[in-house]
Amino acid sequence: MKMRCVVTTGPKKIEIREVERPKPGYNQVLVQVGACNICTWEQRVYAGEYPYMYPFNGGHEAAGRIVEIGENVIPEAYPIGAKVAVKTFDACGCCYYCRHGAPNLCTHKLRRSASNTPYEGIKNLGGFSEYICIDIAGIYFLKEDVPIHRGIFAEPLACVVNSINVGKPELGEDVVVIGGGIMGMLHVQLAKLRGCRVIMSEPDEKRRNLAKEFGADILINPLEVDPVEEVKKITDGRGADVVFNTTAIPAVGQQAVNMVGKLGRVIMYSSQHPDAPIQVSPNWLHSSQAVVTGTVSPSVLSFEQSVNLLNKNLVETDKLFYGSFPIEKAQEAFETAIRPDTYRCAIDFADLD
Ligand SMILES: [Zn+2]
Ligand SMILES: [Zn+2]
Repeated sequence: MKMRCVVTTGPKKIEIREVERPKPGYNQVLVQVGACNICTWEQRVYAGEYPYMYPFNGGHEAAGRIVEIGENVIPEAYPIGAKVAVKTFDACGCCYYCRHGAPNLCTHKLRRSASNTPYEGIKNLGGFSEYICIDIAGIYFLKEDVPIHRGIFAEPLACVVNSINVGKPELGEDVVVIGGGIMGMLHVQLAKLRGCRVIMSEPDEKRRNLAKEFGADILINPLEVDPVEEVKKITDGRGADVVFNTTAIPAVGQQAVNMVGKLGRVIMYSSQHPDAPIQVSPNWLHSSQAVVTGTVSPSVLSFEQSVNLLNKNLVETDKLFYGSFPIEKAQEAFETAIRPDTYRCAIDFADLD
């Protein structure tokens, strides 16, 4: 049987290709994809940043329904028709980092997707396809009343949950979120759930206002005030307890370090472009006990927690969803996704709600 998939074949080039529909193998299920979000990584491939990736079938923020199970899969545990979010990035389970409880740092992560079945020479994550095979370890159940267009936020939310788990904002602490993109907005919501006072630093007024809707207590426009001075003022000179930097700008990374206080935690959430070094004083680290670290990808735990948050309707995603496009309009979906004024855009493959 054949299926359609969306393939990036060159900078700004999208093709809909017909490939053999995959068969679920040992411990795998076949998921019919309802929709899949276009994430930053796929946008960068589309824009031409990683030419070695072509031809590339992306998609790692997908949700759908189980339609077939492979050998050794318990039918009652993975019922046909169940609504699921999928974790496409797989971890080997056996390398140094996997065995230290950090599968998100797996040595072989980027060489494996859960489907692990490149389609006829097309490198794949597999989410931008009508069907995807996933190891059962990458299956997370969604409640029936969670729409597919919310379920596809499981992966980005899981990345942010991982960041929160590392930054550990505690009751009553001052948290700064730098950057009002999707990831910034999810950080704001989760920091509020953790009982913090949240300060959002973001130059765009619309985004600042949205952060307020999500519960941000104090808004800073870094083009009008020095954000480091402002945070110090707000926190009685101490500096913030936790700073989450969700921007890719090196100068902002420096600000993040400069605005944290003693015992504080700085989380470099976003990858940096360009990756220019920043200054951190060893003496300041010595005397402040501050921690400067980062997070990447979701962990197994954070993916589970993310799906729980979605299933219990504790996190709002609708305002972070710009809209979706049918597979035939995949190119338009990508063009819309790379516009700076849009939040998440998805490609629809089937109406499965
Ligand atoms: Zn993503
Ligand atoms: Zn590993």
